[in-house]
Amino acid sequence: MKNEYLLLTPGPLSTSQSVKAVMMQDFCTWDDDYNVDVVQKIRTELGRLASNNAEYTVTLMQGSGTASVESAIGSLIPQTGKLLVVNNGAYGARIAEITEYLGIESVVLEFGETESPSLAVIERTLQEEEGITHLAVVHCETTTGMLNPVAEIALLAKRFGKVMILDAMSSFGGIPFDLADWNIDVMISSSNKCIQGVPGFGFVIVKNAIMASSKGIARSLSLDLVSQWETMEKSRGKWRFTSPTHVVRAFSAALDELAQEGGIEARFKRYQQNQRLLVQGMRELGFETLLADGLHSPIITSFYSPKASNYDFKRFYDALKQEGFVIYPGKVSNADCFRIGNIGEIYREDIERLLSAIAKVKFW
Ligand SMILES: *Cc1c(COP(=O)(O)O)cnc(C)c1O
Repeated sequence: MKNEYLLLTPGPLSTSQSVKAVMMQDFCTWDDDYNVDVVQKIRTELGRLASNNAEYTVTLMQGSGTASVESAIGSLIPQTGKLLVVNNGAYGARIAEITEYLGIESVVLEFGETESPSLAVIERTLQEEEGITHLAVVHCETTTGMLNPVAEIALLAKRFGKVMILDAMSSFGGIPFDLADWNIDVMISSSNKCIQGVPGFGFVIVKNAIMASSKGIARSLSLDLVSQWETMEKSRGKWRFTSPTHVVRAFSAALDELAQEGGIEARFKRYQQNQRLLVQGMRELGFETLLADGLHSPIITSFYSPKASNYDFKRFYDALKQEGFVIYPGKVSNADCFRIGNIGEIYREDIERLLSAIAKVKFW
C-alpha cells in the first residue's frame, strides 16, 4: 500500500511503511504488553531525548497537539497565576486564546509574524508587569517557519523566577536541545510531527517538582494532566481513559526509527539539508522566502505567492498533487504565501523531484 502523494506539510506528515504497518494489530489497554512494553518505554525514551537531566517526567495525553497545550496550561497554572504569552504567529495566538477560554489571567506581547520577538520588550514586561507567574513561547512558529530565541527568553524567565512553558510541537525530535540546558520547565509536543508518528496524542514533559505540586488545579476532567500523570505513574503506563493504542504503537516504532537514523542530530541534519536544497531550488525557480535566512527553522518554509495575475494557489496545489506532492496554504495574516514542509519521511531525492515537478507545472 503506497501513498499516492507525499505530504510536505507540518503534520500529519508522511510516515514510513513500517510505522503504518504496526497499526494492523489490535492491543488491549489493560495488558502489560501494551502499558509496560509500549507506553512506559515511550515515556522513558522521550525523557531521555528531552534532557540528560532526570528531573523531568513525561505524560502522554489523548487528542491533537492543542489538547496537550491546553492540558498543560489548564493544569499547571493556578487560579492566582498569570501567564505572559510571547506571540509572533498563529500558535502563540492560540496559547493566548486558551487562557481566555480557561479564564486565566494573561499578558500577551504581540510581535509581528515576520519578526523575532524582542528580548528587551520581554525583559521590560517582566520587570514592570505585576503578578506574572508563567511565561509561554512557541519554539518553531509553524505559521511562518520561524525559530524563536527560546534559550534567551527562558533565561529571562529564570532570572525573574517565572515558570517557562515551551510549545515545541513542530521542533521536538527534529532540532537538538536539552530542556535543562535551556531552563525549560514545561514542554509540549505531539505524535505527528518530528518524531514522525501518526496523529492522535500529545505529550507534556514537566519538571517533577512542578507536576507533584500542581494537583487539583485542572479546569477540565479529560485534560487533567496531573491526574493522567498519577495514573501513568501508579499503574505503570495506564491511561485514565481509552488510549489511542494503534497510534501509540506506531509512535513507539517511530521512536525506534529515530534511533536507527542516528537520533535527533542526524534527523536535524536531514531536515536542514532538505530545507536548504528546497530554498535554493525555489529561488532558482523565481520564488522568494517570507523570512530572512537567519530566522528560518529547518521544519517548514513560507514562500511568497507569485505576483502573476493568473497565479492561483488551488490550481498550483492541484497540479502538484497530480505530480505526487501535497503542499500547504499560507497562514500569515498580512502576506500572500504558501508553505512547504520538509519534516517526515522525506529525503533529498524527494525534494529534487518536487523542484522538477514545480518547474513542470508552473503555469503563470
Ligand atoms: C502543530 C502545532 C500545534 C498543534 O496543532 P494541532 O493541530 O492541535 O495538532 C501547536 N503548536 C505548534 C507550533 C504546531 O506546529
